[in-house]
Amino acid sequence: MEGSVEGQVAIVTGAGQGIGRAIALRLAHDGMNVIIADLNGETAQAVVEEVTKIGRKAVAVTVDVTVANDRQRLLSTALSSFNRLDVLVNNAGIQMVSMPLDVTEQHWDRVMDVNARSVFFCTQLVLQHMTVQRTGRIVNIASAAGKMASTIYHPVYNVSKASVIAMTKTFAQAVANSGIRVNAVCPGIVDTPMQGLVDQEFARLSGKTPSEIRSDRLSKVPMGRLETPEEVAAVVSFLVGPDSRYMTGQAINVTGGMITY
Ligand code: NAD
Repeated sequence: MEGSVEGQVAIVTGAGQGIGRAIALRLAHDGMNVIIADLNGETAQAVVEEVTKIGRKAVAVTVDVTVANDRQRLLSTALSSFNRLDVLVNNAGIQMVSMPLDVTEQHWDRVMDVNARSVFFCTQLVLQHMTVQRTGRIVNIASAAGKMASTIYHPVYNVSKASVIAMTKTFAQAVANSGIRVNAVCPGIVDTPMQGLVDQEFARLSGKTPSEIRSDRLSKVPMGRLETPEEVAAVVSFLVGPDSRYMTGQAINVTGGMITY
């Protein structure tokens, strides 16, 4: 039976800013030590300092999650630093915008590489360790975009997040009897640096202003406001904690009511 997370160890990818940073800080508040993995070593180090102030240990690892050697170094750093690994949060992701008929193969490859392929292979790598210890939890940050084509301006992003939901279900079933749970969170419109760029890029494609884009998008949210990164982190905390011990293969919406399935 799963118990308290106190003293356990989590890897959070893309933890240098935005949702990943909020997840790392929340898991630290819950009592975990955290590996802060990001392409940007400076922001990762700044989050390490924030975790340390909470009274937990953290290590920054500069990685590109699309690179196999980087993923391997990430796992070995977690094990050599803390001698254990209990949780992986696959959060690193990118947005690229383009109308569906203008998507190039390079656009497809880049978005699928970061948002889907790297999530699959990070999960596979960490499961090789977790299946031996017969315990662990993995949480993938998918998106509402993976359940609904939330806009036509990021068609490959929609596909990448649907892939994350599909791989969550597949891995969950594959390792359920090894004591490991795999779930996903589907945020809606979260107030992060990524979101500011998205408003600008959607405006460029649609001929609207970024603030018109923002209000169009918010009009689809029944709660009528942006989501905070901490509201995503709270659900991740639940999914890695013992209160969700009978849940696996789920893709949980945190969208202010925007989607209900
Ligand atoms: P963000 O752009 O603010 O932060 C993403 C972080 O990931 C950055 O620190 C970046 O350096 C890192 N990163 C990007 N590519 C990487 C790579 N190849 N290797 C390692 N690190 C890499 O984004 P965010 O809004 O915090 O989004 C985090 C996750 O949540 C993403 O998967 C995103 O798709 C998902 N999401 C975001 C929203 C939203 O509204 N912001 C909604 C739904 C889902």
